Amino acid sequence: MDNLEQLAIAARQALAAAQDITALEELRVQYLGKKGNFTELLKGLGQLPPEQRPAAGAEINKVKELLQAEITARRETLEGAAVTARLAAETIDVTLPGRGQQLGGLHPINQTIERISSFFESIGFDTVEGPEIETDYYNFEALNIPAHHPARAMHDTFYVSNNQVLRTHTSPVQVRVMENREPPLKIICPGRVYRCDSDLTHSPMFHQVEGLLISEHATFAELRGVIQEFLQVFFERDSEVRFRPSYFPFTEPSAEVDIQCVICGGSGCRVCKQTGWLEVLGCGMVHPRVLELSKIDGERFRGFAFGFGVERLAMLRYGVNDLRLFFENDLRFLAQFH
Ligand SMILES: [Zn+2]
Repeated sequence: MDNLEQLAIAARQALAAAQDITALEELRVQYLGKKGNFTELLKGLGQLPPEQRPAAGAEINKVKELLQAEITARRETLEGAAVTARLAAETIDVTLPGRGQQLGGLHPINQTIERISSFFESIGFDTVEGPEIETDYYNFEALNIPAHHPARAMHDTFYVSNNQVLRTHTSPVQVRVMENREPPLKIICPGRVYRCDSDLTHSPMFHQVEGLLISEHATFAELRGVIQEFLQVFFERDSEVRFRPSYFPFTEPSAEVDIQCVICGGSGCRVCKQTGWLEVLGCGMVHPRVLELSKIDGERFRGFAFGFGVERLAMLRYGVNDLRLFFENDLRFLAQFH
């Protein structure tokens, strides 16, 4: 009975010390297993006088069952703690804001081109694109700019070879369309163009949109109407528009178009050089020689053409004061256009 009491005390101490399931299982085997201490104790009953055996046996079993119950309870506690610890370690805080994915956006120049295209498409123009490396013929000759012509000096051309250039305007696309489609024609040609020129307000690569309309009834009045309507829609304001006589080899008569300064409203500022006007595009009636070179019957058909720089329109519309911002790809700048 002394042994039983000591055994029970030792078992309880070991139980209190067991910190995990593995230790607990070792303890159970040690005390309650087939070769465990309590089994040994029960085996020793034979040494007692017969009349003491039932009472001693019952006492041993009682302590043994008690210990078993305590081990089971302790196991449940430890298992519960293990689950709680694991849950805490693997917790997902569903209230945290997600990392998300930032959506990209179109570059402001592309947005501007889309804005221009969508206006002209809404009044029946087709958008057409063409090669950026052009032959001398399409970039110059077919547009009434022969080899000796002084207008070539204005273009600061990048030559790829004797006969090939990086196009200096998107007009060659118009020539290709005039050669391949039957009039009437209504097209605009957006795209990159190149000129050997680089400073605060010029970039060697920039974007143009040029338009061409050929029909039996095209008039300068119609050209004027189209341009005025476009500028009103593009700038979303009723700015005054004025046409000034000008010269281009491929149109006759030719005009440059100014709008009332969108920055100062016409009172004069740095952007409009205190004039109150901003030059925004060039235009004119297609030169008969250009129609002739593209084999269009100039007796029957007439046309008008216009062209403008996309960067310039984008700067005026969005109030951007430095051309280089469009090419530096600084996300702080670009993200403002999302
Ligand atoms: Zn101004």
